[in-house]
Amino acid sequence: MFYYKVLLPLAINGGFTYHSNERLKEGLRVLVDFKGSTRVGVVWESTEKPDYETKPILKTLDSLPIIDINLKESLKFFSFYYMAEEGLFLKSSLPKKIFEIKEGLELSKAKSEFEINQPEIVLTDEQKQALRQVVLDKFNVYLLFGVTGSGKTEVYLRLIEKTVKAGKKAVVLVPEIALTPQYIKIFSERFSKEAISIIHSRLTKKEKFENWIRFVTDKSPILIGTRSAIFVSFERVGLVVVDEENDDSYKQENKPSYNAKDIAIYRAKKENIPVILSSATPSIETLHKAVEGKFHLIRLNKRVGEVKLPSVSISKFKERELLTEDSLKAIEKALKNSQTVAVLINRRGFSRYLVCENCGYVFKCPNCSVALVYHKKSENLKCHWCDSSFPIPHSCPICGSGELVDRGVGSQKMEDELKRVFPKANIQRFDRDITSKKGEFERIINQLHNGKIDILVGTQMLSKGHDVSKIGVVVVSDFESLFSTPDFRAFEKGVSLIIQTAGRSGRKEEGSVIIQTSSEKSHLFKFIVEHDYFGFYKEEIKTRKIFNYPPFSRLIRVVSSSSKKEKSEKLINSAYEKLKNNFEVLGPSRCPIFKLRNKFRYHIIIKTKSVIKTLEFLNQEFKEERGLIFDIDPINFF
Ligand code: ADP
Ligand code: ZN
Ligand code: ZN
Repeated sequence: MFYYKVLLPLAINGGFTYHSNERLKEGLRVLVDFKGSTRVGVVWESTEKPDYETKPILKTLDSLPIIDINLKESLKFFSFYYMAEEGLFLKSSLPKKIFEIKEGLELSKAKSEFEINQPEIVLTDEQKQALRQVVLDKFNVYLLFGVTGSGKTEVYLRLIEKTVKAGKKAVVLVPEIALTPQYIKIFSERFSKEAISIIHSRLTKKEKFENWIRFVTDKSPILIGTRSAIFVSFERVGLVVVDEENDDSYKQENKPSYNAKDIAIYRAKKENIPVILSSATPSIETLHKAVEGKFHLIRLNKRVGEVKLPSVSISKFKERELLTEDSLKAIEKALKNSQTVAVLINRRGFSRYLVCENCGYVFKCPNCSVALVYHKKSENLKCHWCDSSFPIPHSCPICGSGELVDRGVGSQKMEDELKRVFPKANIQRFDRDITSKKGEFERIINQLHNGKIDILVGTQMLSKGHDVSKIGVVVVSDFESLFSTPDFRAFEKGVSLIIQTAGRSGRKEEGSVIIQTSSEKSHLFKFIVEHDYFGFYKEEIKTRKIFNYPPFSRLIRVVSSSSKKEKSEKLINSAYEKLKNNFEVLGPSRCPIFKLRNKFRYHIIIKTKSVIKTLEFLNQEFKEERGLIFDIDPINFF
């Protein structure tokens, strides 16, 4: 008799023990009885006969394993690293249909047939040089860092071509939803539809499954997918690309939380293959690794062809207006010339903040360097990281000016105002709420291409989507609001958002960007006006160092959550007691969004240099703790 741990796609570690008359390969799909119902699980590992009665494995479903050994080991590591059960990672790593009973999946390798349509373009010198630097067949992380429109996509398309011509496969990660139609177009024009498999959240269960099968059986050598695609089998994969590597959608927030970009690097290392991270505005952490030589930095400094980067101008608010005179004039002119205007608002700006009208300083916590939230009722400023409160100051700590003003954000207000001022214009909102409806994203993009939209009011979504060349003018509705979120990455996110959005305009013709601001003196303007993200990095990295933030430390966020306020508070306090003597911790404090879906939330932020040691401690101390959520390398602090 043989004994095996069988892992089910549930919140469990290691699986349950079953027996079998036959020797079974690890990774095979099997049927077992679990709590009275028949379920699909995966043979996880062989084990000793336990001292209790075991149930039999009812059936082996396929002749080949569904999970290869490298993937299995990786899932185990992710379970430790992200503090979520192996069963949950198993569930995330396979299409749902795999766990529905269907026997005899055809998992043997097929032959892929495809053509490559090489376009008649001559690579620029920078592109050629970029290509020469990448060594296939060897692990290395390359950061392809180039301004929007510098031809980064073309560079990695050529690398994919090289990879598939050598009989290997490629995995391309793309940000959630918005970008996918554009990618499909680019890839299917180059490699034909047969060569690509696509996995993203808006496909049906069946489509996801079919695409997944096509890739794992080698029928199509290229997989384009959003974050969960990173769990596909890497057998015969020779290249991984993470496009727009700084995009937040690579981070899964719900349990099991993980970051697909980091997983891409981990897996590529295990398979000894290269990873290409591509972005016009890479995350500070990635860029720092590249500057330090841990990643290989490849820069593309020029836009392809004659296309100029848009001109950026700064426009100061008068009193509490929503749109400045400059903006109104520019919008009017654009509408006359049938150009589309994009108005960028900050989705993340959910609270009021205090800003110095003289120098543009957004008030920050002196301990944490994150923006303070202005509480009108109690007339104070509050830090949602370390729990300090401050009275409303009389003057600015940077320039001494007494011209302080509190501002808030309202996207609806902006839409109303635009409608009031431009009653004849076709105004369309463009944010996650709208575009998550089926077909809406495509509809808006189509309208945009056909010149039907006059004004697009949107959030972060606006910075996405390739080649929205119809946008002539971009208005950044409130510059300082971009930095008003209690997040140590607020500057990074804000600057990157503006540079990316600006990159959308003027792809075909010269575009312009107007930044509305409380003060024209921000030190960030010079980087934005010159599209100098690297310059910004050099400035930003200094603050990170002073406050010991990533990349100089790693963060782990611990959140307590309960429908009873006292219980949530008790949970976080007891966690704090366990942590305070061992680690550098901030908090406990109320989360910036204190009440979410009827639950009260507190958090603690751990700063650590040795993340693995810290995780060993946490895994041990908090194993059975319910009501606490651990977020490793968090990017969301709400
Ligand atoms: P990025 O990814 O850096 O934003 P893209 O790769 O999308 O830039 O390139 C922008 C545009 O320029 C695309 O339409 C692309 O087809 C085109 N392009 C890229 N490389 C070249 C080249 N060497 N010659 C002419 N056009 C190019
Ligand atoms: Zn000031
Ligand atoms: Zn603080």
